[in-house]
Amino acid sequence: MNTYRALVLTKDEAGVHAALQTQEESQLPEGDVTVDIAWSTVNYKDGLAITGKAPVVRSYPMVPGIDFVGTVTASQHADWQVGDRVILNGWGVGEGHPGGFAQKARVNGDWLVALPETMNERDAMIIGTAGYTAMLCVLALEAQGVTPDQGEILVTGASGGVGSIAVMLLAGRGFTVVASTGRLAETDYLKSLGASEVIDRHTLSEPGKPLAKMRWAGAVDTVGSHTLANVLASTQYGGSVAACGLAQGMDLPATVAPFILRSVKLIGVDSVTVPRPQRERAWACLAKELDANKLHSVATEIPLSGVIDCAEKIIAGQVRGRTVVNVN
Ligand code: NDP
Repeated sequence: MNTYRALVLTKDEAGVHAALQTQEESQLPEGDVTVDIAWSTVNYKDGLAITGKAPVVRSYPMVPGIDFVGTVTASQHADWQVGDRVILNGWGVGEGHPGGFAQKARVNGDWLVALPETMNERDAMIIGTAGYTAMLCVLALEAQGVTPDQGEILVTGASGGVGSIAVMLLAGRGFTVVASTGRLAETDYLKSLGASEVIDRHTLSEPGKPLAKMRWAGAVDTVGSHTLANVLASTQYGGSVAACGLAQGMDLPATVAPFILRSVKLIGVDSVTVPRPQRERAWACLAKELDANKLHSVATEIPLSGVIDCAEKIIAGQVRGRTVVNVN
């Protein structure tokens, strides 16, 4: 097809507008690999872009969507041939370069990773940036020497995308996982993913003391702000916290007490510009470790036309698990 459907963001004095459009292939951007997209997915950052709640998009008009999976239809890049199945996460795609909420994309081949042989395309997007970031967090904790025998691991924002998959991955690796959520009605869901205990996020989200009773051997924090400060304050001596998100806020109203009195380590986790070898390692672990039934239990499927509504919901904290987008 010479035309394809895409969600397009425009901006004027009234704000950001999103609409489905039919585009010509000649409108595809520069890049050395062209992909027929099969699936995309809605991440928190996509919600920020589409609602205009944060300046994620760097130029307009823009096709949002920080993830996609699909099949190469043209390539001038040495690593990719027509027919290869590829995943894209990050690299500014959907922010400064047209992204995954479309039936076609053209990107720099250096940004792509191969779809693991044992993984299907839909599952790759159930995982998406959220799941791949959860994996990066787990690998970061283990690189700091966090092991299951040291005690409980806390996951904040546990009902969300990163959180749900972090719970699954950590439980799969033998950790005792405590899930923090504002949606206690999701307790059964979180336990089905592997959480041993579910706690109310309000016990962590208000201003707290510089140091609290030591509990966590490690943590994956997806919400930032007071929550992250309280998590640091209640981490065990020498424990590690992987911080990847800001659902509560970008601020970090903490003190240095956990660092200088308990040798607590705060590890930042970025997923956007991670070099390819680390990405491939994370995707290989995801392919090996995730239980297909559990993975499917976190997924909701929507068409391209459902993305705008989902964007509002994810920013309102109303999306459970992961949302995959069938773009065709
Ligand atoms: P989701 O919206 O799916 O999950 C976020 C979860 O955070 C919500 O489900 C909710 O969980 C909790 N939450 C929402 N609002 C608040 C609040 N005001 N206070 C406390 N908790 C809140 O988003 P994702 O899982 O896709 O992303 C999570 C975070 O990680 C986002 O900030 C995102 O930008 C960031 N991220 C960062 C990446 C990186 O490269 N560093 C990559 C991917 C994501 P519950 O209802 O269980 O409390």
